[in-house]
Amino acid sequence: MAEETIFSKIIRHEIPSEIVYQDDFVTAFKDIAPKAKVHILIIPNKVIPSVNEIEPEDEILVGKLFTVAKKIAKDLGFAENGYRLIFNCGRDGGQEVAHLHMHLLGGEPLHSKGFCN
Ligand code: 5GP
Repeated sequence: MAEETIFSKIIRHEIPSEIVYQDDFVTAFKDIAPKAKVHILIIPNKVIPSVNEIEPEDEILVGKLFTVAKKIAKDLGFAENGYRLIFNCGRDGGQEVAHLHMHLLGGEPLHSKGFCN
């Protein structure tokens, strides 16, 4: 069983966060230190530490992160203009929290912000 992080507490509403979407499988909430006008983290409720630990049985769950990202972008009105989705993996990838998360960045042009989060 993978170790929990602060993100599990967010999923369980044990610490405050601005949750924008939640169902039985996925939770999405605003990043505490936004790097763009809109910066949302989309995570599986199940603890998967990083991309390296995604197993074949997680494929549908990981796919759901994308359909939730698309829905949020549409609901917030920037799906047509476009947005950026990022997964950081491990130390060299700059991953700080060991709970798989997709960064959804948008709501403004991102060209000048480089390719990293
Ligand atoms: P990473 O660098 O691991 O890809 O991204 C982790 C992200 O989680 C960072 O953008 C950071 O700002 C965000 N973050 C870390 N702790 C918290 C927290 O307690 N609440 C929220 N909403 N975001 C957090």
